[in-house]
Amino acid sequence: MTKKRYERPVISKHYSGLMNKYGGRQMTPPKTHLDGIAVKELTEKFGSPLFVMSEKQIRNNQQNANRIFKNRYPKVQFAWSYKTNYLDAVCSVFHQENSWAEVVSSFEYEKAKKLGVKGEHIIFNGPDKSSEALLHAIKDTAKIHIDHFDELYEIKKITETEKLKAKVAIRINMDVGVYPKWDRFGFNLENGEAWQAIQRIASNKNLQLIGLHSHIGTYMMSAEAYRLAAQKLSLLAKSIKTDLGIAIEYLDLGGGFASHNTLLGQYLPAEQIVPTFEQFADAIASGIFSASFKTEELPLLILETGRALVDDAGFLLSTVLANKRLADQRRAIIIDAGVNILFTSFWYKHKITPAQESGMHSEDVTLYGPLCMNIDCVRESIVLPPLNKGDRLVIEYVGAYDMTQWMQFIQMRPNVVMIMEDGTVELIRKSENLEYLLDREILPVKFKKSSKQSKTKH
Ligand SMILES: *Cc1c(COP(=O)(O)O)cnc(C)c1O
Repeated sequence: MTKKRYERPVISKHYSGLMNKYGGRQMTPPKTHLDGIAVKELTEKFGSPLFVMSEKQIRNNQQNANRIFKNRYPKVQFAWSYKTNYLDAVCSVFHQENSWAEVVSSFEYEKAKKLGVKGEHIIFNGPDKSSEALLHAIKDTAKIHIDHFDELYEIKKITETEKLKAKVAIRINMDVGVYPKWDRFGFNLENGEAWQAIQRIASNKNLQLIGLHSHIGTYMMSAEAYRLAAQKLSLLAKSIKTDLGIAIEYLDLGGGFASHNTLLGQYLPAEQIVPTFEQFADAIASGIFSASFKTEELPLLILETGRALVDDAGFLLSTVLANKRLADQRRAIIIDAGVNILFTSFWYKHKITPAQESGMHSEDVTLYGPLCMNIDCVRESIVLPPLNKGDRLVIEYVGAYDMTQWMQFIQMRPNVVMIMEDGTVELIRKSENLEYLLDREILPVKFKKSSKQSKTKH
């Protein structure tokens, strides 16, 4: 048994049966292991800070989502949202679990192709698709989701000059009772713009309209909004069949399901208030069924769920650099993971747990990152036990967006490892170093110090 650490005694006034001003005493046990691997071992081997992904958790999440949706609707296909986490190893786990790829840029598209995803299994979304990217996607028979009229004209031009046919869908935005509305992407349903786009596509012999897409927002806490979206898209698909004679192959309801991360302004933990996968699936299935398609005409349901499938599969291990008292006596802790690699701390209250036994006397502290910038505050206020320099913290729910929105600012991006299902640990992205940084820089010749110049100078 390891020796308990000494803790300085503290006297604080307690009222029996009542909570003190910090709530009840926090008794969260330390998080010493991730998927059976000691945090200590991970940081000793791969350094700190360190991102850790769990292969097992990603698979569980995807298998669970497949089962829940397939129980409620006969034809379901997930497409992994690359921008949520596009590390090759992470995408590969999703692809092994039968997910297609959902990409929003040329480089994401190329990444998916390199991982062996077939063109027809790539959904190409987003407002920025270059002509080269579009040509490439058309040749691959990828599923191109048109965002605006200029893109439609571009596709029309390419298919004419290249004598090609393109399979397209359109992104639709609509009122589903969630405000502010996301109306900057796609064509609006209520003002007739979507119908205009549909007719223009239908009347072009090179374009085949195969799907309708919506992505109503992100971290959505209302399942009802999805029921409305599914219903509106279904009714639109039926009108397209009746009025234009085109059978829509699929409805893509996008992503946006809330994960179990708690938002900054949220009082209750997310687990207690966000809808479950079952509720999202019930809502979407009931929205589609309400349009009364004939059974054999039911469209394929595509989902582009991102954060809800990967947030809880990612951890950030961090080390305490220093303890401080601020001018007003508040306690502050500086850790080696800042907002440069924890972008999501701008809107989430991540669960943060010590990785070793700590004392019992918890205190309200401010957590700062290592950057020399005032904005580098990981958490304004969090109750933590006493921590010493060198102690480790586990920051949870960081699998989504942190490894794509991280920035190389003052500090380099750290190693990322994946704990594999068999308990081995693989390095899946190497930490950056000065060499990596300088590789992209070009110093104009006149700034280069040759030995001759420095001699003549003096
Ligand atoms: C970002 C995005 C997703 C994934 O969103 P989550 O909120 O992470 O589920 C899916 N589809 C589109 C079009 C997106 O832009």
